[in-house]
Amino acid sequence: MLSPSQIAEFRAAVGAGGLITGRNRLQTYECDGLTNFRVLPEAVLLPENSEQVQAAIRVCARHGIPFVGRGAGTGLSGGALPAAGGVVISLARMNRILEVDFVNRLVVVEPGVINSHVTQRVAGQGYFYAPDPSSQSVCTIGGNVAENAGGAHCLKYGFTVTHALEMEVVTPDGELVHLGSRAPDPPGYDLAGVFVGSEGTLGIATKIALRILRRPEAVQTLLAAFDSIQAAGQTVSDIIAARILPAALEIMDALAIQAAEAAVHAHYPVCAGLLLVELDGPRTEVETRMGEVQALCRRNGAWETRLAHSEQERALMWKGRKAAFAAVGRISPNYIVQDGVIPRTALSEVLAEIERMAAAAGLRVANVFHAGDGNLHPLVLYDGAVPGQEDMALELSYRILRLCVDRGGSITGEHGVGKEKQEALGYMYSEPDLATMQLVRCAFDPQGIANPDKIFPRTRLCAEKPGPYTPHPLEAAGIAELF
Ligand SMILES: Cc1cc2nc3c(=O)[nH]c(=O)nc-3n(C[C@H](O)[C@H](O)[C@H](O)COP(=O)(O)OP(=O)(O)OC[C@H]3O[C@@H](n4cnc5c(N)ncnc54)[C@H](O)[C@@H]3O)c2cc1C
Repeated sequence: MLSPSQIAEFRAAVGAGGLITGRNRLQTYECDGLTNFRVLPEAVLLPENSEQVQAAIRVCARHGIPFVGRGAGTGLSGGALPAAGGVVISLARMNRILEVDFVNRLVVVEPGVINSHVTQRVAGQGYFYAPDPSSQSVCTIGGNVAENAGGAHCLKYGFTVTHALEMEVVTPDGELVHLGSRAPDPPGYDLAGVFVGSEGTLGIATKIALRILRRPEAVQTLLAAFDSIQAAGQTVSDIIAARILPAALEIMDALAIQAAEAAVHAHYPVCAGLLLVELDGPRTEVETRMGEVQALCRRNGAWETRLAHSEQERALMWKGRKAAFAAVGRISPNYIVQDGVIPRTALSEVLAEIERMAAAAGLRVANVFHAGDGNLHPLVLYDGAVPGQEDMALELSYRILRLCVDRGGSITGEHGVGKEKQEALGYMYSEPDLATMQLVRCAFDPQGIANPDKIFPRTRLCAEKPGPYTPHPLEAAGIAELF
């Protein structure tokens, strides 16, 4: 529990209007989009600028108080879950777009700026910000940077790491540093690359320079209906093999289509596998290539191919896909959103195996995924009111992650490890790998106060020697403990 003098120090750091205490008001911050894990923070701090973030973190550093940064709280892996006895630093009030530079094609934002607001700000001049997580109407750039967020169009344009050029960061000891560069290929270690995807464990980003891109001349979106998800998957492989690089290649299975239809009436055909293909670029190229894509769809048995003929039709096709996670709530009382990656070539085999595993567990799994880069999002459906079913669903989703690793993939494509996948990280990486990652973390945060007890399978102390676990001398002396 914070002492009255610590609370006074936090109040001095962020101002009385920037400090939230009191159980009822703190409950808003006890979890993110992964609601199975909840921890009530001791206080929430709402700084208005970098100096206030610095002052707040200095209080934390002085007293060894753990802190976690928070954007919109849409994370799905428990990344913004507070640490017991710790505080939340919410970036919600730092939501200004500070600079728009069309000549150098970049925008400088505060971390609390909502993803879709960046494109809205520059669209009039013919530009856009490429990473487009399905949560883009609410999630923040700070959260995107911390999670290296992806989205449907990252197949062609790359993840957040490709677009976050330079960052102002407050490190866990309260220092203000600049990582990366607005100029291309700066010398030295790629510390901006290290920070992106670090899930709030290396400090708080307070300003971010983002790359913006010129809108392509033409965009075409195609929907194709197949009798099996394997046929849709095969079409994805064939499109890539034909040297076509779509802006987006997404697949939804029958359950996901049913849910999306119930929620947003996207007029999707009732089918076992729905493929969305978007091409963009010079008009003639897009039109020619789209003809080839349609032929490949038909060759793999597509019985309907529907091209969007207006911006409204295109938006509706995407609305169904982007609403799919939340829409699953229409067909199941509870569900777990998983996020794993497999090589594209393993798509058919892994999807068949997931189907088999789900049947064996007596559970349903809806599949919605970024097929182009092999990023699966199996949604494991269950009823929390049925005793034991939540545990079965958790076990099934963990087994799906192991399957992804066994097939040469990864336990996360874009949602991060957070609290949810700590154990799974231990399945993917060996002890020396984890110890090496820990060295990076300790270089930024020797006290271990920035979003502790996340990512790694178990809490590690910074002075701990790499290798098999042996108690740290502080632990042995009863001064520190692992929890
Ligand atoms: C319906 C739905 C659809 C989604 N679709 C996608 C998708 O397509 N692609 C995708 O990648 N994700 C998706 N997500 C997950 C989520 O939206 C992303 O992970 C997003 O980047 C989180 O942003 P946020 O602002 O909500 O961050 P939060 O959830 O608040 O925080 C996420 C992590 O970032 C850290 N953090 C936040 N701000 C900062 C900062 N300024 N400095 C340092 N660390 C910080 C937090 O400590 C935490 O570890 C989806 C989520 C939902 C609910």
